[in-house]
Amino acid sequence: MAWDFSTDPEFQEQLDWVEQFCREEVEPLELVFPYAVRMRDPKMKALVDPLRDQVKARGLWAIFLDEELGGPGFGQLKLALLNEIIGRYGSAPAIFGCQAPDTGNMEMLAAYGTDEQKERWLTPLMNQEIWSAYSMTEPQGGSDPNLFVTHAVRDGEQWVINGEKWFTSAGRYADILFVMCTNGMFVVPRDSPGVEIMDQPRSHDHIIYNEVRVPLDHLLGPEDGAKVLAQRRLGGGRIHHAMRAIAQCKRAFDMMCERALSRESHGKIIAEHQMVQSAVADSYAEINMLRLLVLWTAWTIDNSSTQEARTQIAACKYTAAKVLKDVAYRAIHIFGSLGVTDLTPLQAMWAGSPAMSVMDGVDEVHKVTVARNVLKGYQPHDGFWPTDYFPAKRAEARKKFSDAMAADPDLVKYADYMERRSSGRA
Ligand SMILES: Cc1cc2nc3c(=O)[nH]c(=O)nc-3n(C[C@H](O)[C@H](O)[C@H](O)COP(=O)(O)OP(=O)(O)OC[C@H]3O[C@@H](n4cnc5c(N)ncnc54)[C@H](O)[C@@H]3O)c2cc1C
Repeated sequence: MAWDFSTDPEFQEQLDWVEQFCREEVEPLELVFPYAVRMRDPKMKALVDPLRDQVKARGLWAIFLDEELGGPGFGQLKLALLNEIIGRYGSAPAIFGCQAPDTGNMEMLAAYGTDEQKERWLTPLMNQEIWSAYSMTEPQGGSDPNLFVTHAVRDGEQWVINGEKWFTSAGRYADILFVMCTNGMFVVPRDSPGVEIMDQPRSHDHIIYNEVRVPLDHLLGPEDGAKVLAQRRLGGGRIHHAMRAIAQCKRAFDMMCERALSRESHGKIIAEHQMVQSAVADSYAEINMLRLLVLWTAWTIDNSSTQEARTQIAACKYTAAKVLKDVAYRAIHIFGSLGVTDLTPLQAMWAGSPAMSVMDGVDEVHKVTVARNVLKGYQPHDGFWPTDYFPAKRAEARKKFSDAMAADPDLVKYADYMERRSSGRA
């Protein structure tokens, strides 16, 4: 029987290297030049590229892509273990070639792109020579794709796109935009005439597509296939967010524990106060529950498919947001006044939890998916009583002992006595 929670020693060695590399190289870069990984300035690239080269030399670049999609094929479980480390640092995913929103877009390209499209966009995206964004949500609603109206009309050798998109992360920095239209998924160069990016909000862009023209070969996948591509894109991304959320939770937890052992109040180190212990104990259990859920889901994907694991992925998505919210809140609380400043990462972690609950599908929608799929495995009971109604079950169970009870009246007496007792009538 296989049931093993250990990590391959060789991969553990890689993880140890990643941990040290992030602590010694990535974190200092992030503290001094926070947006360096997202800047085109050659001076910033000169700081970032050597770090990327080290990652590539270790064979850890873009490990999210499966082998059949052109990646190294490490699988989701190893990716989860890696993300548990790099998710602590905002810049690390970009240094490891696995940052959102590029990862999901690359997966879509790898799965649905023609050879020519892959050469044109996937290869430079993999090398991070270009950046991408994903334009799906519209101002009138994001949760329900049936409300989307952005549309492409064919005009000779071109598609003409009209519509309005909202919350396209990093849209203004992207070289190409994956635009979900009611009749297909299109790749639109950001500098195309008619792509109008609003001033606000700054990080997640409001974009008008006004008579934007692209050649016919900028349709990705089949015509009318946008919803299938979107599912493919978002399915993987959701578990990646959950993997990185574990890292955030662990960071908040480490900070909480260190602080609990360092402060004194009312004659004790605060870690000796029982309510502080309760915060530590609940956080420990919740993080490990989340971690096991995510690793089990990653393992399921590796051993079946993203589609097969969709119920688990949905559960990871909203559980990650909840655990992050609760653990970060407890850590902030244990930090007291310092916790409510922005002098530590805690505020940003806590503020990140509502975003986790909304991005890539709101919690409610994922809960509906989980409940619906789980309920498919159940049947309603017959009659008034549930299957676990004791009197009916016990009557059925007595039949199993009927021969023995017929032969021995004492057994009947015992059984009757026990039955009265368990009904509270003994
Ligand atoms: C940090 C972040 C990054 C994002 N990046 C991108 C991106 O790169 N590209 C992109 O296209 N979009 C992006 N989004 C947008 C995201 O996809 C949408 O916010 C999400 O789909 C929800 O849509 P909405 O914001 O319009 O909320 P709505 O659909 O208006 O939902 C609002 C609320 O209504 C309730 N609700 C909605 N539907 C249901 C339901 N079926 N059952 C019960 N309650 C329901 C929930 O309480 C929900 O929170 C991002 C969002 C965030 C927060």
